[in-house]
Amino acid sequence: MKTFEELGVATNIRKAIEEMGYENPMPVQEEVIPYLLGETSDIIALAQTGTGKTAAFGLPVLQQINVKENVPQALILCPTRELCLQIAGDLADYSKYIDHLRVLPVYGGSSIESQIKSLKRGVQIIVATPGRLIDLINRKTVDLTNVRYVVLDEADEMLNMGFTESIDEILSKVPAERKMLLFSATMPKEIAKITKKYMQNPKEITIGRKNEGSNNVKHVYYMVHAKDKYLALKRIADYYPNIYGIVFCRTRRETQEIADKLIQDGYNADSLHGDLSQAQRDYVMQKFRIHNIQLLVATDVAARGLDVDSLTHVINYGLPDDIESYTHRSGRTGRAGKTGTSIAIVHVKEKSKIREIEKIINKKFEQGVIPSGEAICEKQLFNLVDRIEKVKVNEDEISNILPSVYRKLDWLEKEDIIKRVVALEFNRLIDYYREAQEIESPSDRYTREESFPRRRDRERSDRSSGGSRGAERGYSRLFINIGRTDNVNPATLMGLVNDFVPEKVNIGRIDILQNFSFFEVPEKDAQKVISSMSRQEQNGRRISVEVAQGGSGGGDRSGRDRGGFSSQRSDRDRGPRKSSDYKSSSSRSSKPSDKSGHRKGESGRRPKFS
Ligand code: AMP
Repeated sequence: MKTFEELGVATNIRKAIEEMGYENPMPVQEEVIPYLLGETSDIIALAQTGTGKTAAFGLPVLQQINVKENVPQALILCPTRELCLQIAGDLADYSKYIDHLRVLPVYGGSSIESQIKSLKRGVQIIVATPGRLIDLINRKTVDLTNVRYVVLDEADEMLNMGFTESIDEILSKVPAERKMLLFSATMPKEIAKITKKYMQNPKEITIGRKNEGSNNVKHVYYMVHAKDKYLALKRIADYYPNIYGIVFCRTRRETQEIADKLIQDGYNADSLHGDLSQAQRDYVMQKFRIHNIQLLVATDVAARGLDVDSLTHVINYGLPDDIESYTHRSGRTGRAGKTGTSIAIVHVKEKSKIREIEKIINKKFEQGVIPSGEAICEKQLFNLVDRIEKVKVNEDEISNILPSVYRKLDWLEKEDIIKRVVALEFNRLIDYYREAQEIESPSDRYTREESFPRRRDRERSDRSSGGSRGAERGYSRLFINIGRTDNVNPATLMGLVNDFVPEKVNIGRIDILQNFSFFEVPEKDAQKVISSMSRQEQNGRRISVEVAQGGSGGGDRSGRDRGGFSSQRSDRDRGPRKSSDYKSSSSRSSKPSDKSGHRKGESGRRPKFS
């Protein structure tokens, strides 16, 4: 391994980074720094976040700035305001001992006038989000004609966010002979297009294997019915009492909903998404950084730029539409030499996506089993015992009360006291989990159904009664005239729905019988599914789909026959809490919410099990 000095980093920069505790270069720095200091060709670096890439491009760019010229010489583009500020801050730290060097972050959501003022005073490095930079270019307040270095950081994310056109426009304003660096965690086709269009004989540097996630990350998926996803999330959170993680959701609305439910159910959670104001996002991120929040429910975009190295878990509340995003998400754990777990809570339809991701990350997922109530109780109890062992006793503060406590418990043996402390916790947990039903795994159900009696008369009565079942709340139960005789199984049935219905439709319960089947879809999609599938053919047989008798959801379902949950049941499954927890939670709920429903002033610690 080379030293920063051997890589050619100047003394004044070395002095600054040594003060920051950088002793040796990280692999991406070892590759990029000498190249950027010496060669003239462009660079494409495939590197995950957290690999040290800011210093990899930052140190050599800083070193080659001519401080006597007060014009922009380097332009760094990145997807979000947070990342923009982080990069600008890092560059300011690295250049602590370079006199007259000025770095300016320009990003949306803050005063453009003050950014224009700073530009007028003169800067040498601009770190920008594409949208705001275009705004400044249009106002003719920024001159890019002297730019010699262009860095596209987290290029894949910028493309995901729809910045392709803005990047095109910006690059057209920069001299053709500039040196260009592109950093990306993944290499989708769109990036290849950019590199072809704008880069000259780029040198490709891969830190780790291409598209491979960190080796310190374990990937686990839990397969559940769509309706059980939230319950599964809670069980997972309960099973890891010291969890510190991000729960990724697909949409802003889902993010807010899940965060709200978790908060109501007594978890130490909050939300981060684009509907929140900048001040709210900053506030939530800060709380998360200082571990005041254990579970941050976030969209992919909003979580960008949140530099936290110590996440124990990343939870995919459903898989992202874009598989590349999975790499980004999972790369947020297992950093800085620590191990982490990337969990995906998926439903049957997403199984093929798991296989695709495995190919991309070149690693196998483990299939997790949703922890049973018993396992959670055990885990929580050991956590309590561990905390008893490690608690810091404040001798001075407690010394006044202890004598009377000793006197009161004098008649008990040490073993009795331990038993009672543990029972305090155990009784409550066991009471709660005795009531809670186990979450049914979809594969269990299919296996069970295969052993159902296949008698024709039973099927007939099943058909007329919609299979004796009402649909899940909000779902319609549909009848389809093909079954096992037609070689249909749950997977082929889902495939048919995918093939014939133009838009994506969630599928709930599926019952395959000998000559026909039932399946459930959201009520709002039922007509669309019926009209799209009817009169299509499967193996030469014309398909007919109709609403099963008694098949509309929203009804009074006991949930008994299918492990489903009535609203009463889901109330019970909220999670065990102490009476004090209920108090803290309800007082929190009464705090004012802003328009987006985001609660302000959430500072309560997670009401833990103990
Ligand atoms: P980045 O990928 O640029 O966000 O960097 C990830 C983290 O690694 C940041 O906290 C950096 O301050 C830190 N870092 C970068 N380079 C080094 C180094 N050579 N030695 C120690 N820490 C570093």
